[in-house]
Amino acid sequence: MLEVRNVTKVFYSDKYEDLTALKDVSLFVVKGEFVSVIGPSGCGKSTLLEMIAGLSKPTKGEIYLNGQSIVGQKGNVAYMPQKDVLFPWRTIIENVIVPLEIQGVKKAKAKEEALNLLPIFGLEKFANHYPDMLSGGMRQRANFLRTLLFRKDIMLLDEPFGKLDALTKMQMHEWLLKILEQVNKTVLLVTHDIEEAILLSDRIYIFSERPGKIKGEVVVPLNRPRTQEMITSSTFIQIKKQLLNLLKSD
Ligand code: ADP
Repeated sequence: MLEVRNVTKVFYSDKYEDLTALKDVSLFVVKGEFVSVIGPSGCGKSTLLEMIAGLSKPTKGEIYLNGQSIVGQKGNVAYMPQKDVLFPWRTIIENVIVPLEIQGVKKAKAKEEALNLLPIFGLEKFANHYPDMLSGGMRQRANFLRTLLFRKDIMLLDEPFGKLDALTKMQMHEWLLKILEQVNKTVLLVTHDIEEAILLSDRIYIFSERPGKIKGEVVVPLNRPRTQEMITSSTFIQIKKQLLNLLKSD
């Protein structure tokens, strides 16, 4: 479904040295798959998602969605950036309907559609609250619903749980696993959390330090539905060791 082929990204600068963020990266995501990219901070993970979302262009290489080049094109994927994108002056319901409004859905119809979804996101009591009245976990669920309402087949998630405390993060993982069983989406997730990547993914790409290159790829053979308890299973621990070794290797 998605293919990134030999992508290199250099940030050119007049004042500083040019910076190669990614070097010759090739990866793919099959329809219905959950794929993660893990790697150290600054290895170009966010840059990769921005390029797939069409917000910047590779210096070299190609990006294909269903066989068509999408280089420099916005609007093909649902992208949830690292930073909270909720508008502080809009209520939760008004925030999550933004993508529907962009798609030309009338406001009343958009609200009706989103209101029906709020219970799944644990937000039904907060439709008319403003984002700053919600906890971090709730805001991320609202951000996620907003991303989902772009109604694209593939979602790009950039460290969606990075800023949450450990307990909230665990709850969000369980919640996301349940949601994904229902919506059947293709997901490319960027994270630096090894356990998160294993628990959620079918496949994981491991990036080197900057410039980010792919050091390896690991298939996660855990059955679905996945549960938090799997973290203690021998398969899980074995994959974790494999990933740690790959991350440490040269
Ligand atoms: P990660 O998401 O893996 O932490 P990023 O993709 O955010 O890494 O950044 C990769 C490298 O590219 C970093 O060194 C960062 O400072 C640099 N970088 C990112 N965006 C820009 C930009 N617009 N201009 C110059 N350098 C950038």
